[in-house]
Amino acid sequence: MMIDPASVAFDIDGVVADTMTLFLEIARQEFNLNSITYEDITCYNLADCLDIEPKTIDAVVSRILDGNYKMPLNPIAGASDVLSHLGRQYGPLMFVTARPYAGPLDGWVNERLHLNPASIEIIATGSHAAKVGILQQRQIEYFVDDRLETCFLLQAAGIQPVLFRQPWNREQHPFVEVGSWHELQKLLVF
Ligand SMILES: [Mg+2]
Repeated sequence: MMIDPASVAFDIDGVVADTMTLFLEIARQEFNLNSITYEDITCYNLADCLDIEPKTIDAVVSRILDGNYKMPLNPIAGASDVLSHLGRQYGPLMFVTARPYAGPLDGWVNERLHLNPASIEIIATGSHAAKVGILQQRQIEYFVDDRLETCFLLQAAGIQPVLFRQPWNREQHPFVEVGSWHELQKLLVF
């Protein structure tokens, strides 16, 4: 597969932002949950694979959504370089998140990815399924996501999913998969 850089959009959590590491860090520091590792996150619905009370999971997720944390949310390695390059040549860049509101992500994308605020757009859909309609409306042909179920929804709607490999999407699937931004860059035809 070759991706047209003028027609690609990106999920944020788990693709651009290392949100699960932040989740584990908040769980460790604020809730004393020290024994969970990144590789333990083998499913997207955290309550199904982590031995954490659902109400604690919700509390950590709320903090993440609201930016209510002191530790850093780091970009996934390579994201900043590739996106800057893409933004300069083909901007504006589009990010579509299933978060209910962009909240802290607006400032984060500018600051941590070193992208010009004028050259990015972040759309928060509030649901995974709602990503499809937005992407169709914007005539986006390729979408990079880490949630396998979303990839199936996209494919059914004629949008080419690119799965960003994570421990929580290791089931069998028919999609193009990348394990890093370096690999993703190789699919982008600059
Ligand atoms: Mg995601």
